[in-house]
Amino acid sequence: MIVMKFGGTSVEDAKAIRRVAAIVKERLQQRPVVVVSAMARVTDTLLTMARAAGAGERKTALKLCRALQERHYETASELLGTALFTDFHSELGADFESLDELLRGISAVGEVTPRTTDNVASFGEILSSKIVAAAFTALGIDSAHVDARDVMVTDSSYMQAVPQLEETAERLEQVVEPLIDKGKVPVMGGFVGANKAGITTTIGRGGSDFSAAIVGAALDAERIDIWTDVDGILTTDPRICPDARRIKVISFDEAAELAYFGAKVLHPATVLPAIHKNIPVYVLNSLNPTCEGTKITTRAPQVKNIFKAIAAKKRITIVDVAAPRMLLAHGFLRAIFEAFDRHKVAVDVVSTSEVSVSLTVDSNQAIPALAADLAKLADVKYEGRKAIVCLVGESLRDKPGVAALVFGELADKKIRMISQGASEINLTFVIEEDEVPEVIQRLHKTFFQDLDPAVFA
Ligand code: ADP
Ligand code: ASP
Ligand code: MG
Repeated sequence: MIVMKFGGTSVEDAKAIRRVAAIVKERLQQRPVVVVSAMARVTDTLLTMARAAGAGERKTALKLCRALQERHYETASELLGTALFTDFHSELGADFESLDELLRGISAVGEVTPRTTDNVASFGEILSSKIVAAAFTALGIDSAHVDARDVMVTDSSYMQAVPQLEETAERLEQVVEPLIDKGKVPVMGGFVGANKAGITTTIGRGGSDFSAAIVGAALDAERIDIWTDVDGILTTDPRICPDARRIKVISFDEAAELAYFGAKVLHPATVLPAIHKNIPVYVLNSLNPTCEGTKITTRAPQVKNIFKAIAAKKRITIVDVAAPRMLLAHGFLRAIFEAFDRHKVAVDVVSTSEVSVSLTVDSNQAIPALAADLAKLADVKYEGRKAIVCLVGESLRDKPGVAALVFGELADKKIRMISQGASEINLTFVIEEDEVPEVIQRLHKTFFQDLDPAVFA
């Protein structure tokens, strides 16, 4: 069997869903399981709604809910035609009634907890998966809707819930495998799960890729196809460099590094379950389905070029911890990292000198609280609006002069931190956030001119 995951833009309206059905129809022999995201922008709207309700703005929340209902009804009726839609209407209606009630409840309490946020957010995938399953049936694909909450078992860390792989695999074997055996195409939402008590959770933004990989790993898929709106993993973000080129083959490690440092095309954790089982992952374009896309494998072939891709992660804050008193004191770094750990703040890049340590963290984290804690150990300063730029390529350590080439190109720029990881596959540095487009464009022009045809399209 194979897993086919379709992202938000791939299911954004009736036309897109028909395209998806055509793509799936051509692959029925490979026994697909389909995982879908919410329709484009729906998760954002749901989160806005939850926040509005939590702030007591009941009318705003309910108005957004009506608009969402219209959009889903319109898509479903266009796909199903009047006769089929009449039956389906009440099913969607019941979901919107629940959502409506939930929003009223949240605004009555005047507070939205992570747990209720997940409940609201889950509607995106619940609705899209029902519509896609119904559309498949209407278009002649023998499909079955699977409620993700029945199969994706997670812990209870709402909004960032951690999938429990063993339990999930068991459920998938019980629920999904028999459907495949009967020749049906199971359709389920990504991103959503439930804890052991059956309470709805979500596994983090962009998490549908991860759901797809978990399903693929649990059911020993031959491949996992991530269908999106670009031709594959490109040499950089096409919104910054419209001339970004497609990477034909990339290693798991390189793809994970890129995803982690901002290449939105893939969720960072996606690749892990697939790596463990050695299942190839493809990134493909639902708007251009004949394009070969990008193949992600354990080992990428040797390439003539230094780098495979550039990514940038914005909204970064640099935290400087300076401690002359503690000069070289044994245990100082441990104390610093313990503080980060207590506040559950993840660190991306670290650089140290004798008297100070600089670390980068995501600006969305609770930095003031962390800084107050660190201030007990040392002098602390922090500065936001930074970005991490990451150049990825296999075996960088063996290639002489790489740093000189990169920083020579950026000689007029203020570079804040530099790190060339032990993993040998990335060169990472920190710049001002507003310089990201220019820096990426310049580096892309320098390093992605004469490309090895074995690896780049
Ligand atoms: P989906 O909804 O299918 O999950 P996403 O919006 O999450 O799609 O990811 C696809 C988008 O990622 C592309 O439209 C593109 O703008 C962006 N992107 C950023 N970096 C890259 C890259 N290196 N290669 C391809 N796409 C990238
Ligand atoms: N719909 C979710 C989000 O927008 C999950 C996903 O699309 O992968 O984050
Ligand atoms: Mg995505």
